[in-house]
Amino acid sequence: MIRQTVLLFGPPGSGKGTQAKRLEQRLRAAHVSTGDMFREHLSRRSELGLKIEHVMRNGQLVPDAVTNEMVRDRLLRPDVALGTLLDGFPRNVPQARWLDMFLAGRGYAIRGVVVLSVPRAELIERLKGRAMKEGRADDADESVIRRRLDTYAAQTEACIGFYETIDVPVHQIDGVGSIDDVTMRVLDSLGT
Ligand code: ADP
Repeated sequence: MIRQTVLLFGPPGSGKGTQAKRLEQRLRAAHVSTGDMFREHLSRRSELGLKIEHVMRNGQLVPDAVTNEMVRDRLLRPDVALGTLLDGFPRNVPQARWLDMFLAGRGYAIRGVVVLSVPRAELIERLKGRAMKEGRADDADESVIRRRLDTYAAQTEACIGFYETIDVPVHQIDGVGSIDDVTMRVLDSLGT
């Protein structure tokens, strides 16, 4: 059986994490969020957590070598046997190329890329609201929010172009609306 991988893209605040939690059951795929994994390292102050603390608080990307190695270890665990829903990875073209080689080496296919789009002004409002509710350090400072949005536009959007060139279906989804509506749009786009 070819294991299915779905990639979830979207700028910070677009609802990737919220949607991923709902989609993992419907797609029977393990939700793998690099942001959650890094935050877990930060909160238990692991060796990796201490190494990435400064980068994350400033809203910059963790170096590819560190990120790819963490993802590789995660994707070798047995719970991803049926499928994987990747949230927050890849975030630039070198990561996308690395993932492509990793999956191809195991005979795994990328089923599709889902891109959640939300206007920038709404993203900033959502992230400021989330800062109050969840207390994420990288949401509390507007200059850090803007840096993360700029990094998405400069590096992660290029990565979406990479999938178009290798003929992986890319589904652009309107991320504005109720949480249920957005979930339905994503499932429809994947034909589920
Ligand atoms: P958001 O999309 O709201 O910025 P995430 O939870 O996906 O949040 O990521 C939080 C932070 O974790 C990023 O700003 C970055 O520092 C780090 N990070 C997550 N995924 C990656 C990745 N694939 N490559 C490098 N850094 C990452």
